[in-house]
Amino acid sequence: MRIPFNRPYYTGFEIQYIKDALQKQTSGDGAYTSKAAEILQKKIGHEKVLMTTSCTHALEMAAYLIGLKPGDEVIISSYTFPSTANCILRQGAIPVFADIDEKTLTLDPADVIKKLTPATKAIFPVHYGGISCDMESILEIAHSHDLLVVEDAAQGVNAKYYDKPLGAIGDFGCLSFHATKNYISGEGGALLVNTNNEIIWDKAKVVRQKGTDRERFLQGEVAEYSWVDWGSNYTPSDLLMALLYAQLEAMNEITVLRKAVFDYYAKMLAPYLAEGVRISSIPEYCQSNYHIFYIIFPSGKARARVQNNLKEKGIEAYTHFVPLHLSAMGQALGGNKGQLPVTERVSEGLLRLPLYAGMRPDESEYVVTELLEELKKGLSE
Ligand SMILES: *Cc1c(COP(=O)(O)O)cnc(C)c1O
Repeated sequence: MRIPFNRPYYTGFEIQYIKDALQKQTSGDGAYTSKAAEILQKKIGHEKVLMTTSCTHALEMAAYLIGLKPGDEVIISSYTFPSTANCILRQGAIPVFADIDEKTLTLDPADVIKKLTPATKAIFPVHYGGISCDMESILEIAHSHDLLVVEDAAQGVNAKYYDKPLGAIGDFGCLSFHATKNYISGEGGALLVNTNNEIIWDKAKVVRQKGTDRERFLQGEVAEYSWVDWGSNYTPSDLLMALLYAQLEAMNEITVLRKAVFDYYAKMLAPYLAEGVRISSIPEYCQSNYHIFYIIFPSGKARARVQNNLKEKGIEAYTHFVPLHLSAMGQALGGNKGQLPVTERVSEGLLRLPLYAGMRPDESEYVVTELLEELKKGLSE
């Protein structure tokens, strides 16, 4: 048997909507962009959604819109994708890495406090694998130090912190619809603007539209549009938004299918975990979207051995992030080994199991059987 790490799940409506878009409009902001934004708006009870070309671009927009300047510091976790840091560097500002919490693998508020300086301007918390950060603590730190909060909710679409959708809690939220995420358009994202400040909202629309007031023109508010401010092109093709619309219509269905696999893994593996081995768990404050199921081994050696043996059995299990502070770029910025002990331990030991909507029971059973076989061998070296 061959079990891929991920397999896209299609509802059957994708082709139909894409064909329809082909006949109507292939450039941005056509009918399907509106439909995708609307369905997200309804789903997460949010009024201010801008569909973007990627989460990376939504993060760039947010970093620009909060006015990050050279010398400003932004606290982020190191256990994330480079986009969370790149958007900060792009403004000439400085990413400051804080450690993660052992249980959620998200920003540890206690370490955030230690990283505060007079130059700290914002916190960019990253929700990991569908699990929310401790947002109450992060917001409290932000409020008491007058900091802005931009959520990297690339992996948090349709997940919640208590009853609040991830991405809709801080000042801005950034979502991803990349092919590897839960609900996909190949490449794509969204920016959630969570402020009531109309000036910022107008500015966000201008930035997305190459610095023009085309959005106001489309709404019939101005007779023609022209250059009004700095901007770029963060507008996705309506073809991709047609694909996304089919996926967003099936959000609940996709989530239920992923949950079934996640729950099965958790139930089957929990009784057999040796000392020092941990699996994904969902804190009570969180409603997950079941983006990732991981197992953390006590050492990088044990992890590599299990990963290789699974690969020989046809099972694709993947590691995850190289901590940003230890990557080539992070080290060039001054990162050192030993700086963030939890992040470093987790990244060495973590292995992600295959998980996708529509994974067949015989597939997940095969993964569990082979993994239990590995766990039985013991993990000592
Ligand atoms: C996937 C991901 C991104 C980048 O998303 P794109 O839509 O591919 O730009 C950013 N941050 C995190 C945490 C991610 O997992």
